[in-house]
Amino acid sequence: MCFYLITYRQYNCGHQLPFRRHYLDCNRTVCKISVRHKREVHDCANECDQVMLADQHLVMERCLTDCDPCRGITTPTVVEGLNGSHSTDESSDSGDSEGESEGDD
Ligand SMILES: [Zn+2]
Ligand SMILES: [Zn+2]
Ligand SMILES: [Zn+2]
Repeated sequence: MCFYLITYRQYNCGHQLPFRRHYLDCNRTVCKISVRHKREVHDCANECDQVMLADQHLVMERCLTDCDPCRGITTPTVVEGLNGSHSTDESSDSGDSEGESEGDD
C-alpha cells in the first residue's frame, strides 16, 4: 500500500518537528493508488487496495540544538520547499483554499 512517510527531526529539547514528507509508492499493480495500478479491466474493488496506508512517522535526524520555538524563534511552517527540489507530484491532499477570512466592514 502506498503511504506518506513523514520524517521528523528530534531536537535537543526533546521536541520532534516534522521535516519532510515523502510519498512512497508500493509499485504494486493491485493497488489502486499506485502508479503501477493495472490498466486492464479487472475487479478493482475486490482485487486491489483502495486506500492509502496511514501516514508513517519516522524520526530521521537528531539536532543538538533546541527547536526554534524553544529558542524563541517563530518560523512560519518549515516543512515545505526546503531545497526547492520537487520530488514526485503532490496530487490531492493539502487543501489550500485561500480567502477564509471574513472581512466584515
Ligand atoms: Zn500502493
Ligand atoms: Zn484495481
Ligand atoms: Zn523544543
